[in-house]
Amino acid sequence: MKTYDAIVIGGGPAGMTAALYLLRSEVSLAFVEKLSSGGQMLQTEKIENYPGFPDGILGYELADLLEKQVQNWKTEDFFHYRDEVRTIEPSLDGSGYHKVQVGDEWIAARTVIVCSGSAYRKLGVAGELRLLGKGVSYCALCDGNFFRDQVVAVVGGGNSALEEALYLARLVKKLYLIHRRDEFRGTKCYQDKCFAHPKIEVLRSTVVNEILGEHAVSGISVKNLKTGEDTTVDLDGVFMFVGFQPQGGFLPDQLDKDAQGFVVTDAEMRTNIKGLYAAGDIRSKMCRQVATAVGDGATAANSALTYLENYE
Ligand code: NAP
Repeated sequence: MKTYDAIVIGGGPAGMTAALYLLRSEVSLAFVEKLSSGGQMLQTEKIENYPGFPDGILGYELADLLEKQVQNWKTEDFFHYRDEVRTIEPSLDGSGYHKVQVGDEWIAARTVIVCSGSAYRKLGVAGELRLLGKGVSYCALCDGNFFRDQVVAVVGGGNSALEEALYLARLVKKLYLIHRRDEFRGTKCYQDKCFAHPKIEVLRSTVVNEILGEHAVSGISVKNLKTGEDTTVDLDGVFMFVGFQPQGGFLPDQLDKDAQGFVVTDAEMRTNIKGLYAAGDIRSKMCRQVATAVGDGATAANSALTYLENYE
């Protein structure tokens, strides 16, 4: 079995930052990312709140720059595994090596930093899965173009829903922004832009009962929670932005997680298992941003380096 000082799982901003810090300290590193590096940045059109870019930066551009920075520090002891992590067997017996199954291969390291992120949560209504890819989407940047000059709905009241609604409103004829409460939790500047947008109609205190359509989305059935009235809205597409769920199906049972399955760490990104760290959106925390993921990645790498130094 091939062994390393560290294994970084996930190529979003947390994983790439952790890799950058580890490479600069010349430790041997396995970097595991089955897709293109960038994580959710690749699904974001423009990032306006990452410091250092006063005019904002396109998501894929920031991902590209970070990846180049990692590549610049590549050493002979760096290996990029382009496959999926299946399981982690943590070292609980004091042997010191955590084993990670990547595809069919097992590798091991004294430290593992889990940066596998999160994925959009499903709404869980009738028609959602059946019409996935046929008008139901979780990615405005990927699918928005299919709905040029058509009518769509965006479901959710957080920053993702507001930001993606503003992006989609540039393409579509009309957009319904559907939120289950009257107050939106998204940032005020996004709320103001959405509420003032001529193409956006906001449906507050409204939930989706069902997504309608035989072979493609043709409408949605919604309920106004204040009046109890059910109505049908004719439209061509529905975009869901109702939060995230952790991408951690491969994580060991012994690892402490919160009620939603996000990994619990201390401020130094240490988990309850020695030598195992978590950083970025997979971590149990309040604020999930590129800026906080980058900070988590740097902190986790620093903790892993301290652990490796004390081990030797
Ligand atoms: P979020 O903040 O958790 O918001 C999820 C939204 O979906 C909430 O409005 C919630 O309603 C609603 N929701 C949840 N379950 C629902 C259900 N079953 N039916 C109907 N509505 C439901 O998720 P997010 O917007 O994806 O953002 C996640 C994190 O990323 C946040 O920390 C956010 O600030 C951050 N983010 C930041 C930016 C940015 O700064 N530019 C952009 C995107 C995301 P309630 O409000 O009623 O709970």
